[in-house]
Amino acid sequence: AGALCQDLLPGTGRGLQAASAGAFPNSLSSAFPCTFFLCWQQIQFADDMQEFTKFPTKTGRRSLSRSISQSSTDSYSSAASYTDSSDDEVSPREKQQTNSKGSSNFCVKNIKQAEFGRREIEIAEQDMSALISLRKRAQGEKPLAGAKIVGCTHITAQTAVSGCLLGDPADSKGAPVLPGVAVFAWKGESEDDFWWCIDRCVNVDGWQANMILDDGGDLTHWVYKKYPSVFKKIRGIVEESVTGVHRLYQLSKAGKLCVPAMNVNDSVTKQKFDNLYCCRESILDGLKRTTDVMFGGKQVVVCGYGEVGKGCCAALKALGAIVYVTEIDPICALQACMDGFRVVKLSEVIRQVDVVITCTGNKNVVTREHLDRMKNSCIVCNMGHSNTEIDVTSLRMPELTWERVRSQVDHVIWPDGKRVVLLAEGRLLNLSCSTVPTFVLSITATTQALALIELYNAPEGRYKQDVYLLPKKMDEYVASLHLPSFDAHLTELTDDQAKYLGLNKNGPFKPNYYR
Ligand code: NAD
Repeated sequence: AGALCQDLLPGTGRGLQAASAGAFPNSLSSAFPCTFFLCWQQIQFADDMQEFTKFPTKTGRRSLSRSISQSSTDSYSSAASYTDSSDDEVSPREKQQTNSKGSSNFCVKNIKQAEFGRREIEIAEQDMSALISLRKRAQGEKPLAGAKIVGCTHITAQTAVSGCLLGDPADSKGAPVLPGVAVFAWKGESEDDFWWCIDRCVNVDGWQANMILDDGGDLTHWVYKKYPSVFKKIRGIVEESVTGVHRLYQLSKAGKLCVPAMNVNDSVTKQKFDNLYCCRESILDGLKRTTDVMFGGKQVVVCGYGEVGKGCCAALKALGAIVYVTEIDPICALQACMDGFRVVKLSEVIRQVDVVITCTGNKNVVTREHLDRMKNSCIVCNMGHSNTEIDVTSLRMPELTWERVRSQVDHVIWPDGKRVVLLAEGRLLNLSCSTVPTFVLSITATTQALALIELYNAPEGRYKQDVYLLPKKMDEYVASLHLPSFDAHLTELTDDQAKYLGLNKNGPFKPNYYR
């Protein structure tokens, strides 16, 4: 994966190790994802974007070679080899660290763990073949030549694989001062650390970003608040999360969005796979690692029946849990009914349920009143982006005692002895307490990369100061890149069929509004 990944991203590998033991590199939360910036200002590329705008519709066409193993190797590694805890004592902000290229322009927990992190990245690559093939193609066609990207996202081995795609480490040798990818992220960041990391990535002497890659809107918010002049050079924002996209639409509505933005969250490949399938797998992982709970016969209430809620409900139902759903939207509520779930108000079931899971992206869904009425040992956790879905602040009162029983597991104890089991202090359960399936992250990262490429190369005037969805054809392209992993063979339209349906034989095959 190249020197950059070896030296910089793996510093977060220490966090990955911790993740396998029940923590996430950035223990703060989804609301405080880690930060990195990716820069290319010293890298000379022959700019040839034309090729990249031709999206093949048949899998395996063109130069999309797949040089690495296509096995479905599980990306999870127990990573038991990392045992050094001495680096926990000093804040990474206080440490002087240098990578093997002599650069100190990064801030991670322990750069000495680079080798360990590199192995984690290699494991992740095994299930990210589509991203690897896109990386190979990008090395030839250089669609992001000249791009300087500042990004804020969760840092994992999988993010490193996509960082290598964007950073093109093979071409960064001539950039000794600011290598292709500089990472500022570590497990256990405080809120202050988090904003410090963002600031270090935005406010760089002699370097200014021209693209923003955000997940949650915090980076975009920081630039708006502190460095609005940076937007003069920004060609676009790519935003991944529901929450971040919501903020962008608010800015757009208020006439304050000053650059084009791509809403990656609502691209079909992101939403249908990351939100649904990723959560379907990782909800159980997170709950099991933290609580060892058995789900057969347990009563679970899932708040919100969007993509994330659907994934959680499907997984829990498959294990024999009795699942209730709460919803505000009649369509999603009806879907839940048709899928065999009881749709209830939270207050109707709160006394009897064993587990409460929030997946709404909303705030104060579980209130102190609900928490007061829960039965002893009820497990409460959140799968939505916002860490305010559960009113955790209301639990930090003198009458309640907090007992940390495990990493990411707190018992909140009421005066009568009742205990509520709160996971990850109300932050995203799967990102805090489990790993996320690599294959799904490959889909998301590929979508993000294509969104960056599209915005960066779009001719003047194609995108205005508004929020856009990824063109359908690109969505289809992301999916087609991942089909070879399953040896899936697409049926081709005949000329006659294409005419009958009024479609181009090479897609797009569905209208933009199709979900
Ligand atoms: P969505 O909009 O499809 O679903 C959210 C659902 O919650 C909607 O159907 C909405 O009607 C419902 N809702 C809103 N307020 C509610 C309330 N008070 N009570 C009950 N239902 C309510 O969004 P989604 O794609 O399912 O994402 C949900 C959240 O999960 C977002 O914050 C998103 O950023 C986050 N997310 C998490 C992960 C993860 O890995 N944990 C992955 C993707 C997205």
